[in-house]
Amino acid sequence: MSEIRTRFAPSPTGRMHVGNLRTALYEYLIAKHEGGSFILRIEDTDQERLVEGAVDIIYRTMKGTGLVHDEGPDKDGGYGPYVQSERQASGIYLEYAKKLIDKGAAYYCFCTKDRLASLKTTVGNVNDDDEEEVKEITKYDKHCLHLSREEIEANLAAGIPYVIRQNIPTEGSTTFHDAIFGDITVDNEELDDMILIKSDGFPTYNFANVVDDHLMKITHVVRGNEYLSSTPKYTRLYQAFGWEEPIYVHLPLITNEEHKKLSKRSGHSSYEDLLEQGFVSEAIINFVALLGWSPSSNTEIMSLDELIKEFDYTHINKAPAVFDMVKLRWMNSEY
Ligand code: GLU
Ligand code: ZN
Repeated sequence: MSEIRTRFAPSPTGRMHVGNLRTALYEYLIAKHEGGSFILRIEDTDQERLVEGAVDIIYRTMKGTGLVHDEGPDKDGGYGPYVQSERQASGIYLEYAKKLIDKGAAYYCFCTKDRLASLKTTVGNVNDDDEEEVKEITKYDKHCLHLSREEIEANLAAGIPYVIRQNIPTEGSTTFHDAIFGDITVDNEELDDMILIKSDGFPTYNFANVVDDHLMKITHVVRGNEYLSSTPKYTRLYQAFGWEEPIYVHLPLITNEEHKKLSKRSGHSSYEDLLEQGFVSEAIINFVALLGWSPSSNTEIMSLDELIKEFDYTHINKAPAVFDMVKLRWMNSEY
């Protein structure tokens, strides 16, 4: 079998929530269990979502927890992480988007904000913090897919701003396999022609993520199950390029003791908040490892080395994991 390669690919948009820490830890354990490589890649091409200081929080957390990455550009005498905003300067993402245009799997879209606004519909939604809100959704109507080559050339020559969209057929369906959730099939009709390259020339994280996972030879992609609905679009990108897909490992939801989705705002859910509350890093890591996975032996108190030895991603549960403060306190007392 080829070398196991995993990556933690955070977008620097805020604190290092326990859900993010669990993703990073599982990626690390999958690689180390097999003597493979673990990569850190900062996905910062979405300039509007960037939060100042968030990259530093990621570095501090990775350092503090001992989840050390194996490779990356040389920086300060060590490996820096891969940073997508730096990678994009060479134009690689645009180059790959153009390959998709040539294959008919993507197209230029010159639609104005006003036109897109007219496609908006609103739906009731419950957000990450369990609050009801009205969400606006836009399903793009493929208007620009039907532009002639001459119209496209003329628009480009005139400098009209554009985005590049993925072209997903309206018929048929897309299937992918997830190591935890099994085979998942969605009707293509449900999938939006998502933007790959934005009008500022930057790739969306959805696109840069797939291109980089391929270029970096990532074998296992671990992420929260909120990404299950986006994965068919990634599958279609892999298929259009003719690339082999990684093994997807989507993780169960983490809930609070009331079995509600753990709020990103709730004080106890970021790594640094837990440290501030007096929990030691080893206990936090041990606790987070068990949010959705349990070892076959009956010891629960484990060091990072023991976790590496024991960890088996095929035994991750589908059922939501409860963030149980009492258990964390008990674990902490054992360190
Ligand atoms: N940049 C994405 C995020 O942090 C990564 C998702 C993934 O791991 O593929 O939300
Ligand atoms: Zn358009």
